Amino acid sequence: MQYLSTRDSQCRVESTQAISRGISVEGGLFVPETLPAITLDTIQSMTKMSYVERAKYVLSLFLTDFTPEEIAYCAENAYTAEKFGSDQIAQISKVEEGEYLLELWHGPTCAFKDMALQILPYLLTTSAKKAAAGKEIVILVATSGDTGKAALEGFKDVPGTKMVVFYPQDGVSQMQKRQMTTQEGNNVAVCAIEGNFDDAQTGVKKIFTDQAVVEKLAQHNMIFSSANSINWGRLLPQVVYYLSTYAELVKAGEIQLGDAINVVVPTGNFGNILAAYYAKKMGLPVNKLICASNANNVLTDFLTTGVYDRNREFYATTSPSMDILISSNLERLLYDLCGRNDATIRDWFGQLSKTGRYEVSEEVKAQIKELFWAGCCDDNGTKQTIGDTFSKDHYLCDTHTAVAVNVYRQYKEATGDETKTVIASTASPYKFASSVLGAITDQIPEDEYAQIDELNRISGLPVPKALAELKNKPVRFTGSIEKAEMEETVLKLLGIG
Ligand SMILES: *Cc1c(COP(=O)(O)O)cnc(C)c1O
Repeated sequence: MQYLSTRDSQCRVESTQAISRGISVEGGLFVPETLPAITLDTIQSMTKMSYVERAKYVLSLFLTDFTPEEIAYCAENAYTAEKFGSDQIAQISKVEEGEYLLELWHGPTCAFKDMALQILPYLLTTSAKKAAAGKEIVILVATSGDTGKAALEGFKDVPGTKMVVFYPQDGVSQMQKRQMTTQEGNNVAVCAIEGNFDDAQTGVKKIFTDQAVVEKLAQHNMIFSSANSINWGRLLPQVVYYLSTYAELVKAGEIQLGDAINVVVPTGNFGNILAAYYAKKMGLPVNKLICASNANNVLTDFLTTGVYDRNREFYATTSPSMDILISSNLERLLYDLCGRNDATIRDWFGQLSKTGRYEVSEEVKAQIKELFWAGCCDDNGTKQTIGDTFSKDHYLCDTHTAVAVNVYRQYKEATGDETKTVIASTASPYKFASSVLGAITDQIPEDEYAQIDELNRISGLPVPKALAELKNKPVRFTGSIEKAEMEETVLKLLGIG
């Protein structure tokens, strides 16, 4: 299996190169040349496999230049019951009839990013050994809150790697900030920037593709890579849990093999929902892909009109990991839908960086309409949904998951569709304790740890150990810089400035 760049179809690489580079030199994203087919027989046989076995199977279809031993090494070390609380890895909660919350947050940092970022260090170091022998990998991360912590936790003290994480100073929750600034590990650094997530992401992409910087790294035997969902090694592990969940629902007798399901995803950078799209294209019976956004509803507008326009107000919401106006992975979807035409992608994304806007063709619009349904909900709706779901079903959602639940209710109301539905639950409610508490009580203590205790008292839900332990960890990273200083900061931290 080869990988192509969305902005240059002549650029063809093996998976080890796609993963160790992260992004193609001209700024395109790597995509597999074809999507392997999964039959219902294969899904049937998956019902008898463990999560790790399912992961190995799916990864082996795509990572054809890895040996079976290498794939086993990656999957077995990443997905342990110790790290994810049980062998189930991705746990399913049935909240109402025909409605399943896929809890992707039982990993070490309490957000769904762990599903990919626990395995990425293994995929990346294995890839680099084969494709970039002896080079030190420098990973730059732009985070809206959860990726940063999950990447730091995955890569801390991994030999041959260094990591710098940039987060928007005022754009993350208290707990997310605490998680990052107390991070341990000798190869990692964390830096706040005076800007929002899009500024961080644009800055990181610019450094990646700056030839002078790339050459400077090469002189010191270093190469850049990415732990953001622009890296194929981030996206592929996310395909696994959609296939796995379907197999689990068949196994539990909740659906019959071949039944279609809907999938609802609270969306920011379009990585998680793109993985669901890939699973559908591989043959998973999926009816609608439902894209849920918060007040930053650029995707709702795009998926309903075909016009992408980032020229709009940016809102800091209670679901900060979705506060994004430039959803990078949309590029991979559009590459697929426009007949894999790299010139078209260069045109649209050139317009996006110049004017902040582009409009797709009628053919692409028609395909989008067939595949997707999109909706959004603001902070009030989010709060309402957390409260309703708790009082009605005694189920506590975090703010991001609540956006998805809210939009799913809108979908059902608008379409009357009763198809069984999987809703991606992307974070532990304890990660956003103050907003979640605000939805179920008027008494919100000031202190973030007191908030956690209060949430525990009201809900009875166990507090994740990783969050409780933060209280005793010293803050290591206090710096904050302007966005123009990102490049200089990276070089300085690497000791080559
Ligand atoms: C990252 C994140 C999202 C958005 O996922 P994308 O793959 O960027 O669309 C949603 N919820 C939570 C809690 C997240 O951390």
